[in-house]
Formats: sequence, structure tokens, C-alpha cells
Amino acid sequence: MRILLTNDDGYLSAGINILRRVLREKGYSVIVVAPDKERSAVSKALTLHRPLRMREIGEDFYITDGTPNDCIYLALGVLEEKYPDLVVSGINHGPNLGDDVIYSGTVGAAILATHFRIPSVAFSFTGKHLEGLEQAGEKAAWLVEILLRQRLTDITVNVNFPPPPWKGIKVTRMGSKKYRPEIITREDPRGEKYYWIGIGSPVSSPEDGTDIKAVREGYISITPIHSDMTSYEHMKLLREVLKGEVS
Ligand SMILES: [Mg+2]
Repeated sequence: MRILLTNDDGYLSAGINILRRVLREKGYSVIVVAPDKERSAVSKALTLHRPLRMREIGEDFYITDGTPNDCIYLALGVLEEKYPDLVVSGINHGPNLGDDVIYSGTVGAAILATHFRIPSVAFSFTGKHLEGLEQAGEKAAWLVEILLRQRLTDITVNVNFPPPPWKGIKVTRMGSKKYRPEIITREDPRGEKYYWIGIGSPVSSPEDGTDIKAVREGYISITPIHSDMTSYEHMKLLREVLKGEVS
């Protein structure tokens, strides 16, 4: 079985290197194609306006100057002879819970694999420090074995590990994790203003059954997600509102 491994924290991150090691120890053929630097929060961005480079820096270990989605495209298009049975993304340093999923480069790369009908899984570790990441890697390898047997080609499996010890595993739905955005405004040495975005505390009220609540209570959260973001219940409402105008 061949696994394509990527992430959005860059090829030097502990998370991707632990996963590479544990998956190889299990006997899988692991191809890493990862960004050469951190590309967190780029979601499903593609690099369309400049060329991309890909370099092999070790055995089946490639780095690119692109995004996680670029990595998947290059892996599938350039390394055709190494077409994967499963795409694994992570282990991300930090949670990908609730609305984080929309921004996440880790999850974005896994979703792209689903577009190609390749089973995929995204792993994230929610701890502030990396203590417990090794254990998460071992558990991730165990999950990979199960997912490879199931061959779920229509969905991406999003897994979040709180720091161990874990109370168990919960299959969850995406929670709501809205952020109260804060912007830091400063002045550069020439007197021009600059802004730093992307900070702020999440306004989350974790409901039962959500990924956020499961992780908060010490469970490993597993959420099946798909890229169809249609709100089916609101289709009816919009048809009523636009009565006479829609066919
Ligand atoms: Mg990241």
C-alpha cells in the first residue's frame, strides 16, 4: 500500500516526520511531498501565477515551494508511477476544529485528494506543546490501517488529537468556532502603517456531538467531511423568496 504524505507546517515539522517514520515502520510505502516552509491557513490555495519547483531531498521525500494543494497536484501529476492508495495530511501542530477546517491547509490538501477520489485523512494535534505527539503518531498509524481497508473515496476524515491520555474516540460533527478578530496596527521605520491579522480568541460554545466538545473533554475526534457546502434546507427558502424569478 502506498501513502502520499503532506502537511501545511512544512517538511521540517515534527508532525510530518513522526508520521513518516511510524507509517514506514508499519511497512507502508510512504511518499512525502510537502511545502518547503510553513503554509498554514492557506486552505485550498493553488499557485497559478508562477512556476513551481520540486526537489527530492531524501528517499521518496520531496519538497516544493508551493502550497499543500500544489503538493498534491505535483505528486499526482509528476510522480504518476507512485500514485497513492491513501493521502495523509499532518500531523498539524494545532487544532483543525469547527470553522478552522475552512481555513486549514492540512484539511485542504486532504479534501483535494477526495476530488481525485483518493481516500484521505487529515491529522491535527491540539496541544500547545508537542508532548504526546509521538503517541498521536502511533494512533494515527492505527487509524490509517483501518481507513485503508474501508476505501472511503467520497469523504475526507478529519482527526483531531488532544494531548494524551485520551478518554476514547468520538465520531463527531463540525462545531462552530467563530473568531473575534483582532488586528494589531503598528508603524514601520518609514512611518507607514502595517497590520497583523490572524489573531483573536475563538467564540465557541461547544455543543454536544461536535469535534470541539469531544476534544475539550479529552476524546480523539473523528469527523467525516465532504466538500458539498450546499445548505439544502435553504434551497427551498430561496426558491420561495425568488418566486417567479427562478425556474
Ligand atoms: Mg499548520
